Amino acid sequence: MGRQFFVGGNFKMNGTIDSIKEIVNNLNSATCDSNTEVVIAPPALYLLLTREHLRAGIEVAAQNVFDRPNGAFTGEISVAQLKDSNITWTVLGHSERRVILQETNKFVADKTKAALDGGIGVILCCGETLEQREAEKTMDVVLAQLKAVSDVQKDWSKIVVAYEPVWAIGTGKVASNEQAQEVHKGIREWLGEELGKEVAEKTRVIYGGSVSEKNCRELAKEGDIDGFLVGGASLKPAFVDIINARK
Ligand code: PGA
Repeated sequence: MGRQFFVGGNFKMNGTIDSIKEIVNNLNSATCDSNTEVVIAPPALYLLLTREHLRAGIEVAAQNVFDRPNGAFTGEISVAQLKDSNITWTVLGHSERRVILQETNKFVADKTKAALDGGIGVILCCGETLEQREAEKTMDVVLAQLKAVSDVQKDWSKIVVAYEPVWAIGTGKVASNEQAQEVHKGIREWLGEELGKEVAEKTRVIYGGSVSEKNCRELAKEGDIDGFLVGGASLKPAFVDIINARK
């Protein structure tokens, strides 16, 4: 059984009320491949605005969520609050949070479990830095990030794995088809060994890092690339071309 193509738009800390409304209006009127699952992740402040204006059939994701129930956690947002606001997904483990905010593999894993326990799907990011790639540590790094999650969470049916090499994010240096496919294949093999053949076959592994309307079609042809997590290009009308990469 084929895996449904998945395209996420990660707006990061970008946008204004007006610019986000424009992106949403553009998506509302676009002809999107009905075989692609589309999820967009605006900054927390604009989640409700996005949900309110976006048409049904496209889901909204937070860019982060905390792993504790509602309470005294200044600055954080809970899983229950996402649920209450009809935000059905969250991105977790993005390299900008791992590197700049110093989130550990364990913290990302605990947040992943909390989100899934509360019924929120997780776009789980993993990926190596340039230094780690050059030291031939790519698979060690990526699999350690994923292993921390499989240690606490065996049901991966609502996890989409996003492989995002850090050196390709926002740099215009997209991974080659071969580089991406090799890691995606390695992740799928590991999923099979760690969580079983069915999980390996069903889990979407999407690619992120300088995906554009120009390179998406070629990448989408690789057997283990099941979609994209798109940063910069998700803020532009060309995002629709990426959604339609397999059309
Ligand atoms: P980029 O970002 O497409 O701007 O490289 C991807 C991401 O960080 O999710």
